[in-house]
Amino acid sequence: MIHRFLLAAALLAANFSNSSYASIDSEALSELVTKRYGGDKLVQLNQLWLRDRYIRIDKEQSFYPGIEEAKNNDAELLIDFQQQKMALRYQGEHDQQAFYQHQLLNEKGAYSLDDNTKEFSVIKRGFSNIAGGLPYRMDIFWAKLISLYPDKLSNIQEQSYYAKDGYQANFAAAGFSGLSFNISLAGDIVSLTVDGRKQQFQFDHHQITHGLRFAEQLLVVAGGNIRNVSVKRELLAAKVPDEVFELPTSYKAAKAVAQVMPQEMQIQKLAEGVYHVGKSVGFSLFVEVGDSFYGVGGYQGLGERFKALQAKLKSDKPLAYQIVSHHHYDHLGGMQEAADLGATFIGSAKALEVVDSLLSSKLPKSRYQSFVEQKSVAEGKLLLAEFENPHVANHIVTLLPKDKILFAEDLYFSLEASGVPEAEARHFSLATWLKDKGVIIDRFAAGHSVRILSAEEFSSSLSQAKKSLTCPDLWKICRSN
Ligand SMILES: [Zn+2]
Repeated sequence: MIHRFLLAAALLAANFSNSSYASIDSEALSELVTKRYGGDKLVQLNQLWLRDRYIRIDKEQSFYPGIEEAKNNDAELLIDFQQQKMALRYQGEHDQQAFYQHQLLNEKGAYSLDDNTKEFSVIKRGFSNIAGGLPYRMDIFWAKLISLYPDKLSNIQEQSYYAKDGYQANFAAAGFSGLSFNISLAGDIVSLTVDGRKQQFQFDHHQITHGLRFAEQLLVVAGGNIRNVSVKRELLAAKVPDEVFELPTSYKAAKAVAQVMPQEMQIQKLAEGVYHVGKSVGFSLFVEVGDSFYGVGGYQGLGERFKALQAKLKSDKPLAYQIVSHHHYDHLGGMQEAADLGATFIGSAKALEVVDSLLSSKLPKSRYQSFVEQKSVAEGKLLLAEFENPHVANHIVTLLPKDKILFAEDLYFSLEASGVPEAEARHFSLATWLKDKGVIIDRFAAGHSVRILSAEEFSSSLSQAKKSLTCPDLWKICRSN
């Protein structure tokens, strides 16, 4: 059992008669927090350099179906309060590769930097939403803002948190909204709830470092589930080199490339009875065989896509089968719709178990058909093949041998109107697998893009591999350092 509050909080609470405590106004609550987080040191504090290593618990995008896995994350957050500048560096894991994010916010704007290509892009971000919400993770960041803007505390109530007395207050400053804090009687920020994100940040094990207070432990909870757990949180310094907030002079603006994410439903006929249907970043392949359809690609909105195709073809043939490519929740988003349309699911046994667990009501066993390695369906029109790649263990791709078309989810796609995608490990893995199988593909259709890549585009993407990061100076988080 984790003790939510320090003993000091309990002792302080005991000082009030009848074990109740006095109400408090925003000025006094701000003072309590300021004193607790370092007093004059916090008031004088203008810059911070924080590092936060944590494990993200992932079930929805895991490698093995139905199994939670831990992904390493490492972030540095550098702040200048007076000038409202931030620099954020983040390293995560995706498809068994490390990836990096680097964002800056200064008086000229907000930027995303690519430290490999030495290019930057302008992004629409402010103090409150830069770098996917990393600032939410830092209790001392909030203590400083509460100290700076006492009048932005509102709706203060006495409220216990994990059976310990304290206060709850709303806070809106520096562009943030929908925030609610739980603050212990001693002045520790013990939780932050963010309405818009449906997340709660639970701070614990507050310690003094460099004369400033800081929670060494953080749990992030969403929907009652622990989403991530801190491993090591450090207050590295209270002084930051000014240049970290500036765009390096050697960096150039990245070329703007037009994006293709149509907001209207698109229906492309790829071959006789073969249709690529969808909009934005959700597409399915529907294949007409005899008196019914096979569906592949299960992103949410599957029902709308299928109905649009039926309307276009003036057909009332049903969706008899739905192929499940893999267990990632975004690609299972349309499975309830497929179930409601009466489809029988075909996929790997493990992925079908995940589908079954997500449907609103149990389907008879006859509505699930599992297979191993490969299976020819739709009168030989579709060849379903399972192969393990860096994205997922039981990935099923759909080949149309006669039409030389491949449909896959998450193995390749391009949201850009021209050029080719930068190849990652999964592209290489697919290229090798196709070569080993002796399969020739002319067109690569994807679950995430309207764009169908040609064989030339797919193969030339392999020459544009993502390079590993040469760790910039002053970065603490690079694995190579
Ligand atoms: Zn996926």
